Amino acid sequence: MTPVSKAGSGGKVDPKVAPAPSNFIRQIIDADQASGKHGGQVVTRFPPEPNGYLHIGHAKSICLNFGLATDYGGVCHLRFDDTNPVKEDVEYEESIKEMVTWLGFSFEKNLYYASDYFAKLYQFAQHFITRGLAYVDSQSADEIRANRGTLTEPGKNSPFRDRSADENLQLFDEMKRGLHADGTQILRLKLDMASPNINLRDPAIYRIRHTEHHRTGSAWCVYPMYDYTHSISDAIERITHSLCTLEFEAHRPLYDWVLAELVDAGKLPSPSPQQIEFSRLNLSYTVMSKRKLLELVERGLVSGWDDPRMMTLAGLRRRGFTPGSIRLFAERVGVSKAHQWIDMADLERALRDDLDATAMRAMAVLDPVRVVIENYPEGQFEACTAKVNPHDDAAGLRNFKFARNVFIEREDFMENPVKGFFRLVPGGEARLRHGFIIRCERIEKDAAGRVTTIFATYDAATKSGSGGRNVKGAIHWVAEVDGLQAEVRLYDRLFNIENPDSGEGDYKTYLNPQSLQTVTAWVEPSLASAKMDESYQFERNGYFTADRVDSKPGALVFNRAVTLKDGWKPG
Ligand code: ATP
Ligand code: MG
Repeated sequence: MTPVSKAGSGGKVDPKVAPAPSNFIRQIIDADQASGKHGGQVVTRFPPEPNGYLHIGHAKSICLNFGLATDYGGVCHLRFDDTNPVKEDVEYEESIKEMVTWLGFSFEKNLYYASDYFAKLYQFAQHFITRGLAYVDSQSADEIRANRGTLTEPGKNSPFRDRSADENLQLFDEMKRGLHADGTQILRLKLDMASPNINLRDPAIYRIRHTEHHRTGSAWCVYPMYDYTHSISDAIERITHSLCTLEFEAHRPLYDWVLAELVDAGKLPSPSPQQIEFSRLNLSYTVMSKRKLLELVERGLVSGWDDPRMMTLAGLRRRGFTPGSIRLFAERVGVSKAHQWIDMADLERALRDDLDATAMRAMAVLDPVRVVIENYPEGQFEACTAKVNPHDDAAGLRNFKFARNVFIEREDFMENPVKGFFRLVPGGEARLRHGFIIRCERIEKDAAGRVTTIFATYDAATKSGSGGRNVKGAIHWVAEVDGLQAEVRLYDRLFNIENPDSGEGDYKTYLNPQSLQTVTAWVEPSLASAKMDESYQFERNGYFTADRVDSKPGALVFNRAVTLKDGWKPG
């Protein structure tokens, strides 16, 4: 994978960086630019259906569409493909807008709704009827299915296929006015029931739905189908390149047919948009279908759409992923027509690469054990400092205290050290980072043999930065006198097999019971003012963010987005 320069952890895409590496879509656009096909314009669109929250797969499509528009000096439309009133909701719409903005793309002047085209789509359907190219089918859904044929057998013509245009117009009008029940009539294009491409066997373009639409209310009792709506919406908006995922490849002939007919009739401008398919993103250890994400939420298997273990953008943001890391990831996965399974570790690596240079540092002890420094007097303290960001002196210093009682990580002490263990051991020394060297004098254990207190001494001549001697092991720590207690949530993969959809059982049987672990940590005082959307590297422990929902001043909650190294192993 090629690292790219485009990302940065900020909210906005930096337009000054070098263009991304070429791909087959860029080659098509370059050729169109050279031939002047669209008058030099590049207009793309991201067309979500507002029936769920956006996930990391959508992010690939968003970055691709908005990224191409930016690179070619064009525009990208955000279009709500809101043609199915049964599943759609303004809550989803609001969240989609919020997440596209969060990713760093703007659409204020380019916000569109397929529902705004309902009148036009209806007129075009009447046009198809008048031209003898569409008919109202009164077969039941079962009959339609039975007569569709199979991949190897042609379909059968509907007995209603040869209704007169007048009768069809009349019926279609009745459907629109609500005189027919859901599922009793359907408007179909009259193409070819014997076509080897099933999408061309008289595809349905309008169905009856006696359901209020969140934008058009009860104005319509018929709603247009996806393929029909999508092609026409693209043409109305003068989209030049309509990028979609590979499963629409077999729909392209229908897309092209609808537009060619309407261009011919002078109802749509020419040239028509070109549909170009690319492979969808699949990520290991997760599921991406909206139906499954919804099921996880509805069954309470996660805390909500923004549960930090969900690969929704809302979940990733809450967990501590930055917009820059997701853009970087999207660029690295690239676009092609090859089937694409990406390892979760690649997403995590993009976050580390984005944050290493910019994240503020802090110390937090996730599994604390008390250290009493017996030669340091009670009631006193020593001021210590460390850089907020070692890569950026301008970020300044953070302050914390060294005192008699401090906490260190339980795993930074070993009573019977293994070979190569350079941290604290009985009789041995280790440096408290940004502080002093301490020596472990003795330990106290509880009945179960667990260490409860480490008694130590410190060497006053070894303060960090004083030029004194050093030792091999340096460990992080927090003093009790100014440290804060915080809830820290540590996440693991939501599923414990790579492809939860490929197992023998239902995908839910592969949920990882250890995907969330909550600990009470000691954190340094600079974190008292940590804000959501700020990323911290907790030294040696990973990248963390204050939880945007639950963290409050005085009751801090942090999420770990990723560890510092890719140490993950299947459990
Ligand atoms: P569904 O078919 O369940 O509604 P969808 O993922 O197709 O789900 P849309 O809201 O239609 O949902 O998606 C909007 C856009 O995002 C589409 O252009 C779609 O091709 C693209 N997209 C969705 N999932 C992925 C993915 N995994 N990788 C790349 N692009 C995706
Ligand atoms: Mg879809």
